[in-house]
Amino acid sequence: MAPVRLDLTARLCAALGLFGAPGVHVVSARPADDDLLRTVHEPEYVAAVQAASADPRTAQAVFGLGTEDDPAFPGMHEAAARIVGGSVDAARAVLAGRAQHGVNFCGGMHHAKPGCASGFCVYNDAAAAIRAVLDEGARRVVYVDLDCHHGDGTEAVFWDDPRVLTISVHESGTTLFPGTGFPDELGGPGALGSAVNLALPAGTRDAGWLRAVHSVVPQLVEAFEADLLVTQHGCDTHALDPLGHLVLSVDAQRVAAASMHALAHSAVGGRWLALGGGGYEVVDVVPRTWAHLVAEAAHRPLDPLTPLPAPWREHVAQVVGRDAPATMTDGADGAFTGWSSGYDPDDPVDRAVLATRRAAFPLHGLDPDFD
Ligand SMILES: [Zn+2]
Ligand SMILES: [Zn+2]
Repeated sequence: MAPVRLDLTARLCAALGLFGAPGVHVVSARPADDDLLRTVHEPEYVAAVQAASADPRTAQAVFGLGTEDDPAFPGMHEAAARIVGGSVDAARAVLAGRAQHGVNFCGGMHHAKPGCASGFCVYNDAAAAIRAVLDEGARRVVYVDLDCHHGDGTEAVFWDDPRVLTISVHESGTTLFPGTGFPDELGGPGALGSAVNLALPAGTRDAGWLRAVHSVVPQLVEAFEADLLVTQHGCDTHALDPLGHLVLSVDAQRVAAASMHALAHSAVGGRWLALGGGGYEVVDVVPRTWAHLVAEAAHRPLDPLTPLPAPWREHVAQVVGRDAPATMTDGADGAFTGWSSGYDPDDPVDRAVLATRRAAFPLHGLDPDFD
């Protein structure tokens, strides 16, 4: 989670002219106050983060703090609370119509739970943003999590809330942290079907992943009739990522971002908040993936062959001591076949998709076998 990944992303967006594009407003974020954090986190946990932030030696493992994944550091409370502030402000702006779309690529901290830090995440900005718009009159919100890891924290916050549909598409918990997110995890007794999980096999690759996303997400989002679409674009799904094993390209992630954008317009009145998430290859993957995301939300999608600006590449060489990629593409075509063309019960990706459709689709009045 080295901050350089966000810095390089912001610099790339600026170098590509996205931050200065017509209709794009870059705004600063204030740290969320305690009341806002407590809408999704337990007061004892918020207090523990504040204490660990002031004096890292006080970090308590019972709250997930001071652990290998969530080490305590000075200022951690303010840094994590500022991410929440940004996502909440963006969600409110979108709900109120002050902005059509919002992007916070610093956000997407989907493992943070009500009572503990987890998986590099301290405060769950996605959950706080969803809670904020519900508190301001949104009737239903749909959350789509495309990170390589199961979006367990966000799911947990709304586990028994029928107003929030969380859909997580991820590498199976049999091979990846946090070990959860299987198709039979469907939400609490008051909200059965409001959690949907698609657990994909390691080695799924572009065409399988895009087919899987498009065989589950649009159908459910269209059926749910939400007032806001929140998407999490963790790019640890990429082949170069040191943690995940889904073996995707930047091109697959770009196609998925475009699909989420189109879905926001077709099914959610255009109200779309896009967040970042995981992603640990900080030069070749994170900046390009999220620059594509910003470009998509700005209605200025980038030609994949767009060369990366020379000043940005020189900065990368200076700061990281590595050659940066030359263009916005990995050379993949982003092609896939949809579910309506039929499925192969012997294919591991199709089996995973079918398991999720059979578990969740009937709860939304959808046909599990055929579109
Ligand atoms: Zn992740
Ligand atoms: Zn749009």
